[in-house]
Amino acid sequence: MPIIVQKFGGTSVANVERIRNVAKLVQKEIKKGNKVAVVVSAMSGETNKLVGFVNEFKVRNDAEYDTVVASGEQVTSGLLAIALHELGIPARSYQGWQLHIRTDSVHGKARIEEIVTKDIVAGFKKGEVAVIPGFQGVTSENRVSTLGRGGSDTSAVAVAAALKADRCDIYTDVDGVYTTDPRIVPEARKLKKVGYEEMLEMASLGAKVLHSRSVELAAKYQVPLQVLSSFEDSKEDIPGTILVKDEDIMERRVVTGIAYSQNEARITLIDVENVPGIAAKIFAPLADAEINVDMIVQNISEDGKKTDVSFTVPKGETEKAVKVLEGAKKAKKVGYARINSDTKVAKISVVGIGMISHSGVAAKMFATLASKGINILVIATSEIKISVLIDSQYMELAVRALHETYELHKKPAGGKAVATKKKAKK
Ligand code: ADP
Ligand code: ASP
Ligand code: MG
Repeated sequence: MPIIVQKFGGTSVANVERIRNVAKLVQKEIKKGNKVAVVVSAMSGETNKLVGFVNEFKVRNDAEYDTVVASGEQVTSGLLAIALHELGIPARSYQGWQLHIRTDSVHGKARIEEIVTKDIVAGFKKGEVAVIPGFQGVTSENRVSTLGRGGSDTSAVAVAAALKADRCDIYTDVDGVYTTDPRIVPEARKLKKVGYEEMLEMASLGAKVLHSRSVELAAKYQVPLQVLSSFEDSKEDIPGTILVKDEDIMERRVVTGIAYSQNEARITLIDVENVPGIAAKIFAPLADAEINVDMIVQNISEDGKKTDVSFTVPKGETEKAVKVLEGAKKAKKVGYARINSDTKVAKISVVGIGMISHSGVAAKMFATLASKGINILVIATSEIKISVLIDSQYMELAVRALHETYELHKKPAGGKAVATKKKAKK
């Protein structure tokens, strides 16, 4: 009997009526003769509310933060089990700690290390559906942990990998992965297939339709993954978007999609002494404080003696990063004249495996932004993406303009996959 993992996001379980609808989608899979494990998010808005409660306190405690914010998923897993009982389907809910979804101890952004599946498998033998809360796990110190915002997708893929499931269906409020967020560009086109590598870039650059770690796990364990809507009853065989190996993409496209993120802030150090080893001196204390630095740019003055260094950090860690660098200056570990930060920035990224073998993508991006009068603050590139940091007030304008420039609303011609191992040309 095939094993299917179904995951339902916040809007799909937003109230009792929606949870009853989810139960029907589970029933459909059961009727086809499948064994089903379901992973649920908290009701939409619930996690934000819980985070808000924690933030009302002056004292921070990461383990207790997780205890509070993980509770939204406890409610929906119980409610879905009841909704399944209402349909006469045997089901039981588990909490992360009961199943043993074991994670590391990095509270707030824990990584799953192991999932013990024996209870789920024993339940399958009795014809029982397992209802599992997403987002949460348990540390080796026996504390509740959470995987980071949007982490229920990762829970679902990890459960699917552990069960060696035949498919992992991620149900959400859009019917697949689009060329960009369809809420910003209504002309965005649904992609029937997207490569793991491209999807990983899109997700880590802000496309929140999938949690980036879930894509990483799906690629690693070759979990067949589909993104589809819980709001539509599609008659198509593959109603959503499926993740495939990048070389299996047959469309001849250079740019696959555009992602945006407002989760970063820019920090600039002005008049830094331009001596060998200075970059290491700036970034080592940030790494010690576990602050992830993303985009980096350095401008050297004409005489070569001073340099300005700009970089981005997660928005929530801006103050912490500034404090760390001010501390390093006081301790005479790094010399600079001034430091400033800006949280009103957005990162816009153009992603596509076809960039490996095509040139001119970056030039087109910069020309488009220039034609709209949008100033670029920082640039970062990799083989299959180009990211720019801009003033956040131009974010939507930039996404729309770039979507039009690369004609992403049009279906590209079919043919052999474009990805090759040639050196990237931008
Ligand atoms: P869930 O609560 O089901 O996990 P999310 O809100 O996390 O849902 O993710 C779905 C949302 O992702 C969509 O409503 C859409 O606005 C957004 N999104 C961003 N980029 C894309 C994209 N490229 N394709 C589809 N949706 C996207
Ligand atoms: N409920 C969590 C969040 O809102 C996890 C998730 O929905 O994926 O971030
Ligand atoms: Mg999500």
